[in-house]
Amino acid sequence: MESVLKKYFGYSEFRPYQEEVIGKIIEKSDCLVVMATGSGKSLCYQVPPLVTGKTAVIVSPLISLMQDQVMSLKQRGIKAEFLGSAQTDSTVQTKAETGHFQLLFITPEKAMIIPTSFWSKLLNAGICLFAVDEAHCISEWGHDFRVEYKQLDKLRSSLPDVPFVGLTATATEKVRIDIINSLKMKDPYVAIGSFDRKNLFYGVKQINRGLLFMDELVQEISKFVASGGSTIVYCTTIKDVEQVFLFFSFLFLSLFSHFFLMIYLIFKALQEVGIEAGTYHGQMGSKAREKSHRLFIRDELHVMVATIAFGMGIDKPDIRHVIHYGCPKSIESYYQESGRCGRDGIASVCWLYYARSDFAKADFYCGESQTLINLLFAGNCDNCMVSKRERDMSRESFLLMTCIKSCGGHWGLNLPIDVLRGSRSKKVLDAQFDKLPLHGLGKDYTSNWWKELAYQLISHDLAIHVGKYDSCYLVETIKDIYRTVSVSQKGERYLSSARPDDQPP
Ligand code: ADP
Repeated sequence: MESVLKKYFGYSEFRPYQEEVIGKIIEKSDCLVVMATGSGKSLCYQVPPLVTGKTAVIVSPLISLMQDQVMSLKQRGIKAEFLGSAQTDSTVQTKAETGHFQLLFITPEKAMIIPTSFWSKLLNAGICLFAVDEAHCISEWGHDFRVEYKQLDKLRSSLPDVPFVGLTATATEKVRIDIINSLKMKDPYVAIGSFDRKNLFYGVKQINRGLLFMDELVQEISKFVASGGSTIVYCTTIKDVEQVFLFFSFLFLSLFSHFFLMIYLIFKALQEVGIEAGTYHGQMGSKAREKSHRLFIRDELHVMVATIAFGMGIDKPDIRHVIHYGCPKSIESYYQESGRCGRDGIASVCWLYYARSDFAKADFYCGESQTLINLLFAGNCDNCMVSKRERDMSRESFLLMTCIKSCGGHWGLNLPIDVLRGSRSKKVLDAQFDKLPLHGLGKDYTSNWWKELAYQLISHDLAIHVGKYDSCYLVETIKDIYRTVSVSQKGERYLSSARPDDQPP
């Protein structure tokens, strides 16, 4: 094994778990390999055929992914090819069944429709493993579910005694169990590596979506481009489109949905400052998408503004920055998407820009993901690196909640904050809120400061609450198009139990 590693790949030692997995495969044991992107999963199925002299069959979801792998394997002097449903030339298939290739990549669709005689001939020639790359596609709990993946277990009867190997970077236990069950794995060897990508810096920033932020975004990306490497800007699930985009959308409505408009606007803004940018999304034709992809891989485009459709096939080692403009669908999706950055191990940066409303529906903070969050944001993120002093905010929270209550609980945040800050606006005077004892007690802080505190008090459960009030202190409700804020049951309990120090003088 070591001599193969040195001879074909030029590496002197195995990375964690590689040797164990390869050993188990050679002993014909089923294996599940759950390791971070860039940790070297591919080597686990690349080495066994070179040691045993038998063919490795690898199911892979994307032609582009297979093409990249085949190309780099051929450059190392390894006989590799791929089979997809669109291929009309039967040469690869004919050669493959004689055992000609050391590694044969195949799409899940092709694997299901190819005649069983192909498998029996190849089996006679010798198969050392049947690997399912990106195995999370098997699971409906995963983020890239593919129906064809679910049927792969049918091949078990055509390939008796061939070890099945699932490989994925998706960490959740549900997905792992699903892969083992779906592939009918027998007592598999399970290798779970570390998920800490030490070379990735993670940061989050709250934004108000609009033209002003667009300028900031473009400036930030310009800095990234100047520092070298490629950048991906993912426009993710954007629930509310701010005024500015609505305005533009009247102009472009026939051409774009709001969502694609966002991509288009960022793309345009980058182009205007001379950055070579491209776009990639589902509404583009396949030729245009392939071209964008190709140019990005060849470094002719420095920035790709894309939906998450620009995904699995992106095996580019030197992506230095991944920006999420909007909240990802889940923490697992975020891990995968941001994980496309820094595959070569060099320090790289992931920023997530979000508006509060992005979190209204996303399950980003689902409890189940907490372990992954803990693993992810460990020492190399904006939270850990900027030392923040902890501060007791009980008094300010008490003030804000009492003021919201005193104003009747049927306003948005602005009015109670104005009252706290001592405003004498017409609205405040008309309602005689200037007579409240709290009027002016919060003038030491800005309106934005109070709003941030209010968001903290609302966001302990992050969604907009319907009926389930107990995990937050304030409740935000949407009535028609107005947001109103009131004190929740938990907030009431807090107010009645607050210590005398927490209360305003
Ligand atoms: P994954 O499939 O887990 O995302 P890859 O298999 O693409 O990761 O490997 C990432 C990089 O690490 C590749 O450039 C690969 O050649 C390199 N690599 C893999 N194993 C080793 C090793 N034992 N020593 C040094 N580099 C390795």
